[in-house]
Amino acid sequence: MRISTRCTVCEILENDYESYFMFDITDEIIIQSVTCPKGHPSVLILTHQRFELLFDMGLHALNDGYCREAATNFAVAVERFHEFSIEVMTAALKNNFGKPHEGNNFNSQYLTTWKKMSQQSERQLGAYMMLYLLSFNKSPDMLSNKTTQFRNEVTHKGTFPSKERVMEYGETVFNYIKDKLEELRHTFPEAFEYVSQKQLNQALEQNANGVLVQINQTASFNIDEETGELYHNSFEEALFTCSKFQFLKSDPV
Ligand SMILES: [Zn+2]
Repeated sequence: MRISTRCTVCEILENDYESYFMFDITDEIIIQSVTCPKGHPSVLILTHQRFELLFDMGLHALNDGYCREAATNFAVAVERFHEFSIEVMTAALKNNFGKPHEGNNFNSQYLTTWKKMSQQSERQLGAYMMLYLLSFNKSPDMLSNKTTQFRNEVTHKGTFPSKERVMEYGETVFNYIKDKLEELRHTFPEAFEYVSQKQLNQALEQNANGVLVQINQTASFNIDEETGELYHNSFEEALFTCSKFQFLKSDPV
């Protein structure tokens, strides 16, 4: 998969605002060194969380008629959303925002612990549910058995779902993530910001002398800078935006 961006140096030095160029999206996409066709080096930072990118890819797949791929991306987006939430809730509960905790390097211990559950989604789900209980003093509303069964049939049994059924699934997942994301953001703003900005801050530290280009294009769960709320209120709105917004797949325009 390829994404397009513009070269900031071309814009600043040459007033060239049409200097689009493409690069491949990889697992290290969040921080990536690139060079534009005119030879200007930049460090690109993608500020989306992984669950946002996955959900967007699901929207693109659905718009293009790839229903199985859409459902699979939505399903993985839920799992990565749980991962993001676990980190936010842990940071909030421990009041840990990157500083060594009680003489131990809590962040290092966190990573060690995460590795022990990173290959097993059921462990992650259990961690998410218990952290949610501790954080909000209530049991989390999870996706229904019917929704989970649909996910399993697509991802494990290789079924070919109808577009209508994937639309329904996508809407359920969108609302699930949206509601919990808002709850998390409003309840733990400091921890939410800390986890959201971690990659960016890390990149800034590592590339203090480089040209940094922060990519923050509209995605499914982006926050509207004017209202401070989520940009899209419904699955249909997000789906429509993605049909017009080719950031994740287009050739240069
Ligand atoms: Zn350039």
